[in-house]
Amino acid sequence: MAGVSAVSRFALRRSVSAYLTQTCKRITRGIIFTAGAHAANSDDYLKLTPQDWKKKLTPEQYYITRQRGTEPAFSGSYYNHYEDGIYQCVCCGSELFSSTTKFDSGSGWPSFHSAIGGEEGSVETRQDTSHFMIRTEVLCRKCKAHLGHVFPDGPQPTGLRYCINSIALKFMPEKIT
Ligand code: FE
Repeated sequence: MAGVSAVSRFALRRSVSAYLTQTCKRITRGIIFTAGAHAANSDDYLKLTPQDWKKKLTPEQYYITRQRGTEPAFSGSYYNHYEDGIYQCVCCGSELFSSTTKFDSGSGWPSFHSAIGGEEGSVETRQDTSHFMIRTEVLCRKCKAHLGHVFPDGPQPTGLRYCINSIALKFMPEKIT
C-alpha cells in the first residue's frame, strides 16, 4: 500500500507541475499580448507559436508577417500616405520607419530610404532566394516579422528603397506638442 501511495503522490506532483508550467506559459503570452510593444523583449516574441500569432493577428497580417506574404500593389493603407509620424511593426510595436524618410516610389507599396536606427536598428535583412529571384528580405529585428524587401535603387542619402507591406505596419501620428 505504501508503494501505491508513493506512486500516486509522484503522479500528483507531476500533474501539478505540468499544470503550473502550462499556466505560467499562458500568463507570459498574455503579458506579451496585453502589455504592448515595450514590455516584452525579443526572446519573448520568438517563443510564440503560430497558434499564438494567429490569435494576435488578423488572417491578412498573419499571412504577410509570419508566412512572408506580399500584399497586392496599390492595395494597402500606406502607399499614398504622407502624414507625419512613425510606422510601427504591427506584430510587436517596434518603431521601424519615420515619415521623414518616406518617398513615393511609384511601386504601390510604402517606400522608405532608411529604417529607424540604420543598419543596426529596428530592422534586419537576409537573403531571399524564393520565387526564382535573389532579393534582400527586411524583417523586424525584435519579432522577426516579414516586412518586405530592400532594393539598391532608392534616393539619397542611402540609395536604398525599403519596399514594405502596409499590412505589416501600424502608423502612429506624431504627437503635436
Ligand atoms: Fe516586430
